[in-house]
Amino acid sequence: MPEVHILGAGMVGISTAVWLQRAGFSVTVIDRIGPAGGASYGNAGVLAAGSIIPITTPALPKNAIGMLLNKTSPLFIRWPYLPKMIPFLANYLSHCTEKHVEHYARSMVPLLSDTLLQHRELASGTDAESFICGHPYAFGYHTIEAFNGDLKWWDLRAQLGIRFDVIDGKDYGVIDPLFPDQFEKVVLCHDHGRIADPGLYIKTLANHFVQQGGKLEIKQVSRLVKTNDGMGYAIDGRVITPECLVVSTGAWSRDLVSTAGLKVPFETERGYHIELVSPSKEPVNSMMVASGKFVITPLTGRIRAAGIVEFGGLELPENAEPIELLKSQVRALLPDVTFERIDPWLGHRPAPADSLPLIGQLPNTNNCWLGFGHQHVGLTGGAKTGRIISELIQGRPADIDMTPFNPARFH
Ligand SMILES: Cc1cc2nc3c(=O)[nH]c(=O)nc-3n(C[C@H](O)[C@H](O)[C@H](O)COP(=O)(O)OP(=O)(O)OC[C@H]3O[C@@H](n4cnc5c(N)ncnc54)[C@H](O)[C@@H]3O)c2cc1C
Repeated sequence: MPEVHILGAGMVGISTAVWLQRAGFSVTVIDRIGPAGGASYGNAGVLAAGSIIPITTPALPKNAIGMLLNKTSPLFIRWPYLPKMIPFLANYLSHCTEKHVEHYARSMVPLLSDTLLQHRELASGTDAESFICGHPYAFGYHTIEAFNGDLKWWDLRAQLGIRFDVIDGKDYGVIDPLFPDQFEKVVLCHDHGRIADPGLYIKTLANHFVQQGGKLEIKQVSRLVKTNDGMGYAIDGRVITPECLVVSTGAWSRDLVSTAGLKVPFETERGYHIELVSPSKEPVNSMMVASGKFVITPLTGRIRAAGIVEFGGLELPENAEPIELLKSQVRALLPDVTFERIDPWLGHRPAPADSLPLIGQLPNTNNCWLGFGHQHVGLTGGAKTGRIISELIQGRPADIDMTPFNPARFH
């Protein structure tokens, strides 16, 4: 069996590693921080099978400037970074059409809809199984008007087989007493779930991988390098060319694959969470608070509120404004919950301009595969993506249409 090296130990990289190891490959994973060192650590933990509407809806261009100027809106930009991202922004906004939303939704359903099953199969026989909980995912609307504004996206979801019920907010208060009257309408999505601690889940899968003989190296890869033996990578001042190479470095992938000549219109959508540690009460289900576009999730020993899209690249430190916004929104929503302290976090979602991940072979190579760009749904789709990459490396076609995810589509 060939030796495979995987760059990046997030959700995608670790899933790929586990599936390849099960298939008998000798696998090495390299990460500059360690398992769950990126976005996979701090996401909202939702297995969001029905989250098939991208950020780039037709409403975005109309509302973006107003949102950026409004400090209570979930869209932020670090203005000095704007000139660097103008070409990306033009490309990104060109996808704000109904046609693209529908294309995106149809393409993503096969990658996301069986997420619970995919995670259960990935974690099967490991200690990570205990982190997976099947439960509905709620979307809370403060007003009927806000719900009506999203109605066409719920219709699209229904057409594509996503199962949900629309209920009155008061009835949801019976299901979850933490929300007695905050919402007028709640959409309750079935066949969803959550990971009780996303960072620990991935670390547990990585421990299993190492216990089974996999190698994990904590090192920074500086670039990809084309060699006579195929695509390699530079690390510690030398070049290594494994028989198979997988690039799953999340938001850091654009710069890495550009060293191999692949230009991808891609940015990071910076996201934030705050955690209420040791809360006095917890929600029953994960809840998307539609007005603020943030998610509240009960995790082990804490409530995590996660959301915000901030454009500002990979290098700038965290910004106090989105953290303060999340704090004030959570205080307003959960006035009766007391807790020990609040811990904030900044993470980097990997976002191609068309919001579709890149999954498949690096063009013009025969030993290098890519798996990155899952933006807001990489925990949900990462388990299946890893499995698909492992199948492709074994020469077996994926059981879903991979055309939308073709890494060569931008050329
Ligand atoms: C606030 C927030 C909330 C979210 N909520 C959800 C949610 O509820 N559900 C959901 O499905 N998704 C959610 N997401 C999105 C999800 O977290 C990401 O899509 C997913 O984690 C991406 O996984 P990944 O493996 O591609 O990348 P990452 O998890 O970012 O992993 C990439 C890894 O590559 C390593 N790396 C990078 N460069 C190098 C290098 N040069 N050398 C070596 N190693 C390198 C990094 O250290 C990192 O560990 C959320 C994201 C955020 C920010």
